[in-house]
Amino acid sequence: PVRVRFCPSPTGNPHVGLVRTALFNWAFARHHGGTFVFRIEDTDAARDSEESYAQLLDSLRWLGFTWDEGPEVGGPHAPYRQSERMDIYADVAKKLLDGGYAYHCYCSTEELDARRAAARAAGKPSGYDGHCRELTPVQIEAYQGEHRPAIVRFRMPDEPITFTDLVRGELTFTPDNVPDFGIVRANGAPLYTLVNPVDDALMEITHVLRGEDLLSSTPRQIALYKALIELGVAKSTPAFGHLPYVMGEGNKKLSKRDPEASLNLYRERGFLPEGLLNYLSLLGWSFSKDQDVFSIEQMVEKFDIDGVNANPARFDLKKAESINGDHIRLLDPKVFADRCAPWLQAPHANWEPEDFDSEAWERIAPYAQTRVGVLSEITANVDFLFRKEPVEDQASWDKAMKGEPAALLTTAREKLADADWSDPESLKQAVLTAGEAHGLKLGKAQAPVRVAVTGRTVGLPLFESLEILGKERSLSRIDAALA
Ligand code: GLU
Repeated sequence: PVRVRFCPSPTGNPHVGLVRTALFNWAFARHHGGTFVFRIEDTDAARDSEESYAQLLDSLRWLGFTWDEGPEVGGPHAPYRQSERMDIYADVAKKLLDGGYAYHCYCSTEELDARRAAARAAGKPSGYDGHCRELTPVQIEAYQGEHRPAIVRFRMPDEPITFTDLVRGELTFTPDNVPDFGIVRANGAPLYTLVNPVDDALMEITHVLRGEDLLSSTPRQIALYKALIELGVAKSTPAFGHLPYVMGEGNKKLSKRDPEASLNLYRERGFLPEGLLNYLSLLGWSFSKDQDVFSIEQMVEKFDIDGVNANPARFDLKKAESINGDHIRLLDPKVFADRCAPWLQAPHANWEPEDFDSEAWERIAPYAQTRVGVLSEITANVDFLFRKEPVEDQASWDKAMKGEPAALLTTAREKLADADWSDPESLKQAVLTAGEAHGLKLGKAQAPVRVAVTGRTVGLPLFESLEILGKERSLSRIDAALA
């Protein structure tokens, strides 16, 4: 049975790369009817925070992920927070030391730095040189006599490590590239290098799917797994698959510090979780040659790791918004109207809360649904209905009032005054006729009307908007514009 894990460290706001990793693991588990394990890697007390932990959980829930084992839901391998598993790591570290798979290393940082620099200067590999690998009891006693702090270092095998990456195919790492590495700090704190594979082993993870940035850890983890199997701690080594890098602006790797990488940004802009997940699934995977909008259920049905591409994926905010817009179009109109609620309420909205008119909102909502890419765009599209006066936007005025708009607007006002305000088609005819009188096509003729009434040059279908705003308010705004 497939068992995958998502194991972030709670060190700051969740970012889109992390969400992509969660999504691929989750979809893989669901596709194969497997188990999705959620584990919190919070062994770095200096960087982890409770606040980030709470945010992580909240974000995963917002995205709609469910986990079969993990915080709050528990499971057979609880606890799922590494900070609560310290005794397990101490025990495994002791077993590794006792079995000779690891050793105490007494080298100081200065000594390591000096030897590394010398190796570099000589054109030799500059990783750990194995200095403390085979210390004699006398040497150990001498170091201990000096009260030197000792870390625990894992002894890498002297032969190359080869494995078949589920995304990249066969890879080989030579010993020169993977020197012995620290697994426990001098103060006894276990490191990622130990706790991550130990938990994967104990939690019986079958597939490790994670970002390419972690590829260099894999040969070490495979070697450590071998030791854990010999010690009876692990049953078998999982398969590994490394998801491609995500490139941002200027073809640079998207970093979690880039503002557009922050998940919160997408929530605040009003992405739908399903739209965002649809887009993120395309970072390194594709649904089919000619379809890139699909539901999560469809993705789960289709997703498998062999469809993941090794080439870097490019993050494209415009495409993300366009896919999200397509998901907005797919919503049931009532659901859409409800989902907009946070953007219709103060303090986001730019009108007085008491001027909000839910009846007008319900009438305009279907038009808004056809047009916005993200829910935060709603406010600007409908504010003309709820403000006493339209927004003042000089640039829009200048653009729409080029030429001789006053004459046109005067004619349009006359025609509109005689139109049937229960019928958008009649309002359109009025503006069309006014335009003709001034030699203007409908598009040009309606621009000043739109700016006068809504304050903006672009927006929802104009004649439906006028109908909903009503004759009296619309005409008085045109009068104000002409005054
Ligand atoms: N806690 C690690 C991280 O967030 C997990 C890496 C892994 O998947 O092995 O980078």
